[in-house]
Amino acid sequence: MAILGRDTKKCPRCEAKCLQSQLRCPECGLIFSRMENATNAAAVQRFKEKDKEAVLYVKQVPKDKKRWKLILYTVLLGLFGGGYFYVRRWQRGLFYLLGFALLVVCVVFNAQLISVWDGVLIELLGIFVGVYGVAWIFDIVYVCTGKFKIPVSLPKEESK
Ligand SMILES: [Zn+2]
Repeated sequence: MAILGRDTKKCPRCEAKCLQSQLRCPECGLIFSRMENATNAAAVQRFKEKDKEAVLYVKQVPKDKKRWKLILYTVLLGLFGGGYFYVRRWQRGLFYLLGFALLVVCVVFNAQLISVWDGVLIELLGIFVGVYGVAWIFDIVYVCTGKFKIPVSLPKEESK
């Protein structure tokens, strides 16, 4: 039995393939209509309460965020983690800030560093900066193709 692409959708929580007509994911039990009420702000609230279980990482932009802003922040401020800070993925954002700081260190103090540190440290630094640069390019591709994951959660009163 062939299932046509337009008749199916992916569960935003577990990515299981579901039929368009299904109201609830057969794999994880998520009720799809509830996702319309999910917001990034609610996810921030859950992070504060250390309730990470209630946070979902979804590809669709929640109603309290804008796709064009996400793209703008990622392209223009992505080297500082702009897109991640916009959707409140703080830890990833900090990785980018650290990457940018090390990039500056590498560029500004390149000659001095090599004479002070031995080769292995310099190589590790270079690898980190390389990973960071490639990660940023991937981010741009991801936000433009709608694959960038955004933490969302349901407002308190609707989660039960
Ligand atoms: Zn599911």
